[in-house]
Amino acid sequence: QLQVRMARHPDRVLCADDFSVVEADMPTMAPGGLLAQQLYLSLDPYVRPMMDPVRSYVPHLNPGDLMPGFGVGRVLKSDSDALPVGSYVAGRFGWQEFASLDAAAVRRIDSGLGPVSTAVGVLGMPGATAHYGLTQLGKPQPGDTVVVSAASGAVGSLVGQIAKIKGCRVVGIAGGPEKCRYVIEELGFDACLDYRAPDLVERFIAATPDYVDVSFENVGGPIMDMVMGRLNAHARVVLCGAISQYNTASRSTGFEVFELVRQRASLTGFIISEHMDHWPGAFAEIAQWIKEGKVRYRESIAHGLRSAPEAFMGMLTGKNLGKQLVRVADE
Ligand code: NDP
Repeated sequence: QLQVRMARHPDRVLCADDFSVVEADMPTMAPGGLLAQQLYLSLDPYVRPMMDPVRSYVPHLNPGDLMPGFGVGRVLKSDSDALPVGSYVAGRFGWQEFASLDAAAVRRIDSGLGPVSTAVGVLGMPGATAHYGLTQLGKPQPGDTVVVSAASGAVGSLVGQIAKIKGCRVVGIAGGPEKCRYVIEELGFDACLDYRAPDLVERFIAATPDYVDVSFENVGGPIMDMVMGRLNAHARVVLCGAISQYNTASRSTGFEVFELVRQRASLTGFIISEHMDHWPGAFAEIAQWIKEGKVRYRESIAHGLRSAPEAFMGMLTGKNLGKQLVRVADE
């Protein structure tokens, strides 16, 4: 079977030579476990910082390691009554075609509920991230102004839509006019600012006349600094990610710390895998919103495992719209 491994630690901006595509043995099923064929691999930003040899909430990758990632697939062999052959499961497949998985560590997917790909997108880890981060940490109240960066992406697009459902004014920040048009016209945000166009700060001030009650931070760097200067009293800053730092360590321009004191703001970082108890309820609610037409989502799909490195590099530079996936095999 094909696998994609990390060939070496990247030197800041990723390139194709940081990956190797190899032929490996088929995995063998562990007792009590299952063997599954991956159908969709999720490409997630968190994997990029794992490639750097730094202290983190998970051990970093070493050269030769399988690239990690969530995926959804079909059970081919099973030692678990709860997960029979032919059922669909979501779990940590990694960047490979087949995986031996621990039955206790996967979620069974009901393929009747919608496309199975959503189990790693809007009804998967990114969906849980948006739901948990906004509702539990951002605590949006009707009338609040919510600002979300990487607004057209898997997490950001859902954060903004949930904030609209909660009765907030929602301002997105995204790269390019097309993404901003999508965020306003299809996702229903009140405003979306193209951070690549000039006069961002002036446009941001105009778009947040009542300042900012909740900041859902996905990118860090100068965009975060700008938002931090415009918080309301008792604002909640949800620190979800800092994608602008992953590849290039874009320089922060700095923000005034005492402004956070003045506004009595709170900043909370979180890692969604530490809040698994939140996932089932979040998925039930998001699925209902999709059914009611209140939540929309998009997927960008690359084809074949060999395309994973390029699609991953593309996602990190904004080539995706919505959730970036790789279709590894046909359903
Ligand atoms: P996205 O689908 O949002 O894809 C990444 C997007 O980031 C790109 O499309 C691009 O959009 C944007 N981006 C890339 N570089 C920059 C930059 N220099 N400045 C501004 N924007 C940039 O990915 P996800 O929705 O999966 O993840 C979004 C964030 O959420 C990430 O920071 C990720 O690490 C974090 N996350 C955190 C989790 C947690 O548990 N804390 C769990 C899951 C995700 P554009 O074209 O607009 O620039």
